[in-house]
Amino acid sequence: MAIVGCGPVGALLANLLGQAGLAVDIYDREREIHPLPRAVHFDGEVMRIFQAAGLANQIAAATRASSKGMHFVNAEGRTLMVRRGVDGPGPHGWAGNWYFHQPILEEILRTGMARFPDVRVHLGHEIGSVDDVDARYVVGCDGARSLVRRAIGSRQHDLGLHQPWLVVDLLCDLGSPRARALPDHTIQLCDPARPMTIVHVGGRRWRWEIMLMPGDDQDRLTEPEIFWPMIARRLGPEDARIERAAVYTFHSVVQEGWRKGRLLLAGDSCHQTPPFLGQGMCAGLRDAANLSWKLTAIVKGGADDSLLDTYESERLPHVRAFIELAVKLGAVLQETDPAAAATRDRHRQWERSFRNRDYATAVSWTRPSTSASPSWARRRC
Ligand SMILES: Cc1cc2nc3c(=O)[nH]c(=O)nc-3n(C[C@H](O)[C@H](O)[C@H](O)COP(=O)(O)OP(=O)(O)OC[C@H]3O[C@@H](n4cnc5c(N)ncnc54)[C@H](O)[C@@H]3O)c2cc1C
Repeated sequence: MAIVGCGPVGALLANLLGQAGLAVDIYDREREIHPLPRAVHFDGEVMRIFQAAGLANQIAAATRASSKGMHFVNAEGRTLMVRRGVDGPGPHGWAGNWYFHQPILEEILRTGMARFPDVRVHLGHEIGSVDDVDARYVVGCDGARSLVRRAIGSRQHDLGLHQPWLVVDLLCDLGSPRARALPDHTIQLCDPARPMTIVHVGGRRWRWEIMLMPGDDQDRLTEPEIFWPMIARRLGPEDARIERAAVYTFHSVVQEGWRKGRLLLAGDSCHQTPPFLGQGMCAGLRDAANLSWKLTAIVKGGADDSLLDTYESERLPHVRAFIELAVKLGAVLQETDPAAAATRDRHRQWERSFRNRDYATAVSWTRPSTSASPSWARRRC
């Protein structure tokens, strides 16, 4: 068995297969864990998967459970809607929402692979062609620009949202009254002048995601005289320092064709979502959980290889539903037309708490003809 890519999805898959006693070679072109800011949230089902990999206690000790939920707030500070968190263990036996620093999580997954002598890790080893990989199955956990996906020839479906955002991790001075006043819940600031997301990752680390607007020079956004005024209502350079920053274009795409013969895909190689639900990596980890028991059943249990044909049919509708929901929430958050934002804010249905299952209803008011990204952003991407 070979895995191309040792990001969180490849590393979890190697742990699960190693635990099942399979021999695995996992390759990554990079030696170091990806340094730029990415995921900060996973859910209770994902913690259950980490438990299956024998890593839940370590991960729980390095992450932060929170039931405070996610609040959509307008420019005047009025709460439009709240995605409530769950107090105590949810249906998976763990808290429903966890906040974390992705490099720490990936380090735990990499250390976990070392438990299994039959999992051989090849870092600094780029795979140039799937033909170079001699294995019964090759799983492409090789991210958004996947080589394995190209070899399969998967067909891409565009779900409509492509939007550049600045993503910054801040280390706050906890002695600062302004830093201490930051709320513990996640804020989706639906301000048409400058949409933002604010997340308490844990300890003194806060994630600030800031939508790019027309006229922004993305190469200069983290310069102090440009960055700090954007968040001046809440923090300044006397309250925090920038730990790391990057500009990403958030995409919403799913691939059709996750398998061709011995080649398979998992994670960002077969789907990408804007992070408004914190579900991109979660979806990839669910792929790994689904795939690992099927590969184990085939290799060790004598199950028929056609079992793998159920992988995409089970996973794709689920991940697509999450991405479509994230796109709808993105259309709410990313509204930059002040008149449309005012209409949104007047919509009284929004003033209620809701759980996941209510999302579809809660966001159904969005103007049907509204594209998920503002027109200026669609032109840029
Ligand atoms: C700003 C932001 C916020 C996010 N927030 C969240 C969140 O809160 N919750 C969440 O669940 N998700 C979130 N995500 C998404 C999450 O970070 C990704 O879905 C996840 O990191 C993808 O993992 P992966 O293992 O599939 O791919 P990657 O992490 O991209 O790993 C792919 C690996 O493959 C290697 N590779 C590629 N090609 C080759 C090759 N030819 N040979 C060898 N190695 C190769 C690369 O070096 C890389 O290490 C966020 C993403 C962003 C950008």
